[in-house]
Amino acid sequence: MNKTNWSSLARNSDHGVYNVINSRRQEVGGEAVIDKHGSRDGSLLYQFGEGTREDVDEAVAAAKTAFDDGRWSRLSVHHRAAALQKFAELIEANADELALNETLDVGKPITTSLGVDVPLTASALRSAADGASKIAGQAAQDGGVFSCTLRRPIGVCGAIVGWNSPIILAAQKIGPVLAMGNALVLKPSEFTSLSAWRLAELALEAGIPEGVFNVVNGSGSIVGDALARHPDVRLLSFTGSSATGKRVQVAAGESNMKRLILECGGKSPYVVFDDYGADLDALAKNIVSNSFKNQGALCVSPSRVLLQRDVKGKLLPKLLEHTKAIEPNDPLDPETTFGAIMNEAHMRKVLDYVQSGLEDSSKLLTGGEQIRQETGGYYLTPAVFDNVKPTARIAREEIFGPLMSIFTFETEEEAISLANDTEYGLAAYAATGDARRMQRLARDLDVGSAILLSTLDVAPGGISFGAEPHKQSGMGIEHGLEGLMAHTVKSQVAMYF
Ligand code: NAD
Repeated sequence: MNKTNWSSLARNSDHGVYNVINSRRQEVGGEAVIDKHGSRDGSLLYQFGEGTREDVDEAVAAAKTAFDDGRWSRLSVHHRAAALQKFAELIEANADELALNETLDVGKPITTSLGVDVPLTASALRSAADGASKIAGQAAQDGGVFSCTLRRPIGVCGAIVGWNSPIILAAQKIGPVLAMGNALVLKPSEFTSLSAWRLAELALEAGIPEGVFNVVNGSGSIVGDALARHPDVRLLSFTGSSATGKRVQVAAGESNMKRLILECGGKSPYVVFDDYGADLDALAKNIVSNSFKNQGALCVSPSRVLLQRDVKGKLLPKLLEHTKAIEPNDPLDPETTFGAIMNEAHMRKVLDYVQSGLEDSSKLLTGGEQIRQETGGYYLTPAVFDNVKPTARIAREEIFGPLMSIFTFETEEEAISLANDTEYGLAAYAATGDARRMQRLARDLDVGSAILLSTLDVAPGGISFGAEPHKQSGMGIEHGLEGLMAHTVKSQVAMYF
C-alpha cells in the first residue's frame, strides 16, 4: 500500500476507544477527558474519559465470574491453545487495521507496525499456546503415600502496559495469562489506546469465552492504581517505567499482596572492544539501528555506547554517518524508517535531555533538533553525544528517545564497571573477537539478556528461554516456559492409601 492509501485509510478509520467488559463495548467513563494528538501531524486523533474505579470493579467482577464458573479455566489446555492459535490468525487477518492503529498511536513507521509489531503480537500468542501443554506438576509414590503437585491457574490477572509497542506488550501478557487458564483485565497506556479493545473483540471471535478478556482504559493514577489495588486481582503483570513499577509494588503490598511480574526500564550498554575483527561498518549500522529503533523508545535500546580507545577512531565516524543518514519522516509513508515521537510531552522531555547533555559539557556530535514543524507533528533528529561523564543525567536516566551517549574505555575491567554502573539491568550488547572475554562478559554483565557478538554474519534464529530483569529493571519472568509457569500456582496433594 502506498502513502496515499494509508492516509486515506487513516482518515476513514474509526478512532474510538472503548472498554470491553464481559465482552461488550462500553464508553469509557470519568470526569476529565484524555485528548490524544496524532504524533505525525499533531491533530486531535481521539478523546476518551480518564476512566473510573467503578469501571475496574466491573471488569474484575466480570473476569472473576468467568474464572470461577470454569468456562475457560476448566477447559482442556488443548482447547485453550486452539483458541489462542485462532486468535493469532485473526491478528494476522486484521493486520492492516492493527498496524495503522500502532502507527497513528506511537508514530512508528507503518512498515515496522506491519512487518514487526503485528507478527510479534501473533507469535507471542502462538508461543504461549505451544508451551501451555508442557507445563505440568510432579508425581511420586513413597511408601503408602502418593504425592503430586498441580499447576493451577491463579484467577483474575491484571495487566498494565506502556505505550511504545502497545499490541506486542499486550500480547506478551495476554498469551501466558490466558494459556494457563486465567481471566484477564488489561489496561493499555492512556497515550496509545487504539488497539487493546480490538484485541479483546478478536479474542471473543477466536472462541475465548465472554468475560475472560476485559479491557479498561484510562489514566494510570485512576484505572491503573485501581487495578493494582483490587482485592480480587491475584497477579498483576506490569510493563512500564521503574518509577511506576515501584508504585505498583506499594499498591500490591497495601492491598492483597498480589503476585507481581514487573518489566521495567533500561539503560543498556553496547560495548565494543578493539579486538572485534569483523566488519566495522556493519557493526556501526547495527548499533545505530538498535539504538534508534522505534525512535529510541525500546526498553532494551542500547542508549550507552562504550568504545575501547583504539576502535573508537574508526567506529565513531561510521556511527555518525549512519545516524546522519536517518531521515525522520511521516510514519504513514512506507519509505519511512524513522517516524515521529509519540506525543509532544515526550518530545519536549527528549529535548530537555539534549539541553541537559549540553549543560553537562557532553559534546553533541549530531542531531537533537526538532524538524518538520510545519507538519504539526513531533519529529526529532537522533542525537549522539560524546565525552559523556558517567554522572551526567543523559548517562544515568532512561530517556526512551533518540539520544545515544558515547563513552571511552581502556580496559575490560573498566568496560564492565561502566556497563554495570546503572540502576537498570535489562540488557547489554558487546562485540569482541575473543571467545574467553565473551565468557567473562556473560558472567560479569549484570543484566537479564546479554547479546554477545563476535560477528554479525550469523544465521538468524536462536532459542529464547526468557530472562528475568535484574536490578530496578523489574522482577519475575513472563517469557518462555518459566513465564507460563509464573502464571500458575503450585499446590501439593498427598493421597494416603
Ligand atoms: P509508565 O510507567 O509511565 O506507564 C506504564 C503504564 O502504567 C501505563 O498504562 C500507565 O497508565 C500505568 N500507570 C501509571 N501510573 C500508574 C499507577 N500509579 N498505578 C498503576 N498503573 C499506573 O511507562 P510508559 O512511559 O508508558 O512506558 C515506558 C517505560 O516502559 C520505559 O521505562 C520502558 O523501558 C518500559 N518498558 C519496559 C519493557 C520491558 O519489557 N522491560 C518493555 C517496554 C517498555
